[in-house]
Amino acid sequence: MIFAANFKTNHTRESTKKYIEALLAKIIAKKEEDKVYIFPPATALDRYEGDFVLGAQNAYMTQNGAFTGEIGLQQLEEFDIKTILIGHSERRQFLGESQMFIADKFAYFQSCGFEIIYCIGEPLEVRQEGRESVMNFLLSQLEGIDISYEKLIVAYEPVWAIGTGRSATSQEIAFTHQALKKIIQKPLLYGGSVKPENSEEIVSINGVDGLLVGSASLEAESFAKIIIG
Ligand code: PEP
Repeated sequence: MIFAANFKTNHTRESTKKYIEALLAKIIAKKEEDKVYIFPPATALDRYEGDFVLGAQNAYMTQNGAFTGEIGLQQLEEFDIKTILIGHSERRQFLGESQMFIADKFAYFQSCGFEIIYCIGEPLEVRQEGRESVMNFLLSQLEGIDISYEKLIVAYEPVWAIGTGRSATSQEIAFTHQALKKIIQKPLLYGGSVKPENSEEIVSINGVDGLLVGSASLEAESFAKIIIG
C-alpha cells in the first residue's frame, strides 16, 4: 500500500522536522512493502533520512527563471526531490489551473523523470448526475496525460469528499476504482476525508492501492494509525 500525506498550507520547516521524527519512530513496525510519502509545504523541503519519500506539492515547469512566487527544478534538485503532486483539485479550483496547463506541467515533470501523483476527482454536481457523468468527467481530467508513464501514480479524490469529513462510501470507491483500473493500469490511491476510523475499510477495497490523506495526516499520531492500521 501507498500512504501519502498532503500537508497543503500547514506546518512550518520546524514542525515538519519534528513531525517526521515522530512519524518515523511510530511507523517502524510498518509492513516493509508499504510506501510512505510526505508532501510538506515548499518552505519545509529539505534533506531527510528515513524510509519515506519527500515530495513537492507543486512546482513550475522550469529549471529556473523569472516566475515570481514559483519554485522550479533547481529548487527541487537542491534536496533531491523527484516526486510531485499534479492536478490536485485545490490547484484546479482556487489557483485556476486548466487541464491544458496541468497536462503541460505533467509532460515537463515526466520529461525530468519525476514520479508523479496525478489527482483527479469530480465535484458534487457531477456526482449527483450519476456514474456515467462521473466517469466522463474523470476521463476529461486525463486529457493530455500520458497514462502509460512508468512513474505515474493516480489519486482519485472526489472534490466533495476533500476536507469535508464526508468520505465516499465503500461502494462508490469500489465502483470508481474498478472502472478507472480498466482504463489506467497504475497504482490508484483514494483521497477524501480518510481518517484512522475509516482507513482500514478503504484500503481493503478491491482496486485501492493506497491513500492520499490531507487533514488526518497533519498529526503524526493520526497518520501513523492510518499506516499501521
Ligand atoms: C487532499 O486534499 O488531498 C485530501 C485528501 O484532503 P482530506 O484528507 O482533508 O480530505
